[in-house]
Amino acid sequence: MGLTTRILIAMLAGIVVGVLFNFLNTSQVLGAGATDLVHRYLTEGLFDVVGRIFIASLKLMVVPLVLVSLVCGACALSEGHRIGPLAGKTLLLYLLTTAVAISLALLVALVIQPGVGVDMSLAKDVTFEAKESPPLSEVLVNIFPTNPVEAMARGNMLQIIVFALLMGYAVARCGEPGKRMAGFFNDLNEVILRMVGVLMVFAPYGVFALLAKTFATLGFDFLLQLAKYFSVVLCVLLLHALGVYSLLLKLLSGLNPIELFKKMRPAMAFAFSTASSAATIPVTLATVEKRLGVDNKIAAFTVPLGATINMDGTAIMQGVATVFISQMYGIDIGLTGYLTVILTATLASIGTAGVPGVGLIMLAMVLQQVGLPLEGIAIVMGVDRLLDMVRTAVNITGDSVVSTIVAKSEGALSEETFNDRNYDSVANGGFMGASAN
Ligand code: ASP
Repeated sequence: MGLTTRILIAMLAGIVVGVLFNFLNTSQVLGAGATDLVHRYLTEGLFDVVGRIFIASLKLMVVPLVLVSLVCGACALSEGHRIGPLAGKTLLLYLLTTAVAISLALLVALVIQPGVGVDMSLAKDVTFEAKESPPLSEVLVNIFPTNPVEAMARGNMLQIIVFALLMGYAVARCGEPGKRMAGFFNDLNEVILRMVGVLMVFAPYGVFALLAKTFATLGFDFLLQLAKYFSVVLCVLLLHALGVYSLLLKLLSGLNPIELFKKMRPAMAFAFSTASSAATIPVTLATVEKRLGVDNKIAAFTVPLGATINMDGTAIMQGVATVFISQMYGIDIGLTGYLTVILTATLASIGTAGVPGVGLIMLAMVLQQVGLPLEGIAIVMGVDRLLDMVRTAVNITGDSVVSTIVAKSEGALSEETFNDRNYDSVANGGFMGASAN
């Protein structure tokens, strides 16, 4: 059985077991003693430990992989490609897809009106404290590191990208010593990718544990009360992922979107179970390079950047939530209000990291901009964990679509790899070489 299939089976099994445990917990059919044992030793014991070790092992790879891979990428880019236009194209596509995502969300929500007739007493039991969001000037200055070691220790992706680009550029311009360094970094890159491949073998267990724990502890009662909001967000997420991305890929690169979705499945499963684009970077990067055929010199730049600044799924949640909250409180923010929402949410996505739940902090920023009550966030928070998982999968799919389009336009895409159906076979080294040797 290929690794993709095992990961997908683990994902389903995790959800089923989690929901079952959740039911046992809430209904107490096993009696208090047995329920407590299951909760203590499985949900909060085994599943929690395995899940956390799994996330740690993914995060472990993020900084070394991004740094080394991008030094190699920038070094190759410096010969023949112009970094300015490439970066411009990538940024433009990231911003454009986010703006389309939030506009779509606003449109659908305005038509379906999920916030009309919602029970306002929902807000009574929950509270939300908005964290201060940094001013734009601060965000810009913070892109430039003062200490690369600190940037790496903190996992500050944008700072690592700046440092790696500079280093790669210098390596390419350094003659003989540069050639030796480039050889070293290229070898190291292969070794690190192989490390990711080795960890992938354990992925089914990690995915199972994470999902079983999450679904066992999820509060499902809010889901019923907020069913309309939840389904609108979900529908727009699917519409954007399957419709907008397919259209973009077909129009701008002529490639078959179904192929992309099929190959991205394991990465989406990772994003779904971890709810973190940043922790998924190793898997997204390896998938985009090894399965979609995007050259390292493009992917090493576009993927970590995308995980940090491109959050279409998050923008969709913000769009629907804004309309939902404005309808619930009966406040009409008007056309200017909606335009402000599009602008703020698109810009806000640049300054926030791809970690679980950060979308809500950004939502606070958007609501403040248009004068809607922040307490509204407390209401949508009830179903946010589940939506966070789905939107993270959309976020990283967006990164892979843009990476593929940019690579194609730069002549840095292997269409043979993109169209190769045997991507999971042992002859091909299995999933990213995981089953080789
Ligand atoms: N969890 C999302 C991500 O990592 C961000 C969010 O929507 O909260 O991409």
